[in-house]
Amino acid sequence: MTRTPRPADADSPCPARFPVVVVGAGPAGLTLGNILRAASVDCLVLETGTRKFIEQRPRAGFIEEWAVRGLERRGLAGRLLEHAPTHTECEFRVGGARQRFRYTELTGMRHFVYPQPLLVTDLVREYADVRGGAVRFGVRDVTLHDTDTDHPSVSYVCPESGERQVVHCDVVAGCDGARGVTRTVPPPGRTARHDYGIGWLALLAEAPPSSDSVVFGINERGFAAHMARSPQVTRYYLECPPGDDPENWPHDRVWSELRHRLAATGAPPLTEGRLLERRVLDMHNYVVQPMTSGRLFLAGDAAHLTAPIAAKGMNLALHDAFLLGDALVAWLTGGDDHGLRGYSEASLRLVWQYQEFSLWLSDVFHGASSGDPFRAGTTLARLRRLLDSPTAAAAFAELYIGKHTAHGHLTPFSRAGAGR
Ligand code: FAD
Repeated sequence: MTRTPRPADADSPCPARFPVVVVGAGPAGLTLGNILRAASVDCLVLETGTRKFIEQRPRAGFIEEWAVRGLERRGLAGRLLEHAPTHTECEFRVGGARQRFRYTELTGMRHFVYPQPLLVTDLVREYADVRGGAVRFGVRDVTLHDTDTDHPSVSYVCPESGERQVVHCDVVAGCDGARGVTRTVPPPGRTARHDYGIGWLALLAEAPPSSDSVVFGINERGFAAHMARSPQVTRYYLECPPGDDPENWPHDRVWSELRHRLAATGAPPLTEGRLLERRVLDMHNYVVQPMTSGRLFLAGDAAHLTAPIAAKGMNLALHDAFLLGDALVAWLTGGDDHGLRGYSEASLRLVWQYQEFSLWLSDVFHGASSGDPFRAGTTLARLRRLLDSPTAAAAFAELYIGKHTAHGHLTPFSRAGAGR
């Protein structure tokens, strides 16, 4: 394919027809766009944010090794492999004791610590500046038309002119996340949802990590977690009531609560710092099934949300992009629609595995603080089992790092059971 270098911040001129319109320039949309461009399939990415905004929005940080290898195979992991540190174990802190869990010893697979803004920066650069992909930033009021026909289109209001533009296409890829427009196209009855009834205060601290691994603090006052993001920045979470106001969590209260919930004999003190982000996440999951509606194919958070309990969302977004990208290339370049027809089913197999894992892990994390001594007892028993039993440890490690669950490794289920 021809690789045309483009000026760094330019929006692309916009013809009125593309084979694929990708709505949303997050990890799913940009990975998909890159796969299409590598096969010389033209596509247009429409994004409501500015390029600067999407390159700076903090969120995920942990990418599972199978997803990194998937990016690498598509020429998208150069900087990641050069710069990302890897993690091989995590630590549980319960009742003042520390327990390390060495999941790489059990699976041979690692996490790569690479903040989402860095990945998005790499992907947008490769897509727009190197592979010559078309993109429009800052678009408004994106609207889908005729997605139940074989001649869909997408319209949007152009940020410069204020005029509505219409782009015709063969396929719309809905990659615009949990608050986007594309997931509103399938009827609401197709969305399965679970609310945890729990809030997490998500914090980013301008402070070096205080441990060389992820730390999970299981405590009667509430769950807490520590996750490295970079040598200077650490993500922390504190369980809080859903809908809580971040203003209820001033600096001193945050650090005092983190110190208490993450305390353990022999643990180094937390390195404290300025709080760069404080937001309350009401923990919930949903799945739209099937993930397709006519010529609309949903991917990533637009199709399924996984609360960050098990750090799965971005990994699933990448998995979708790999599946959908390969399927669209096969169809648009060779007329083979096998992958597209199986896309939703193939994606949902992994989605439901990770949804179930998130529910399971949520019980472990939040049982002690549930106020229910019975639940506290059973969830502590679960944790003891995974720390004491090699069989339980192996099962947990495989889901935690995604071994055997990634692209192509899951045993096909009956069609009905896989939730097409
Ligand atoms: P998004 O990243 O949401 O991208 C969608 C894009 O679409 C955005 O750029 C948005 O501006 C744009 N958009 C929205 N509406 C429109 C519209 N109408 N038209 C055009 N464009 C639109 N996941 C992990 O795997 N590991 C982690 O460690 C992890 N940590 C997390 C921590 C936090 C605090 C949060 C909130 C999430 C975390 N996640 C994690 C989840 C992860 O961030 C998401 O799953 C991931 O961003 C999904 O990617 P996406 O491309 O599907 O959607």
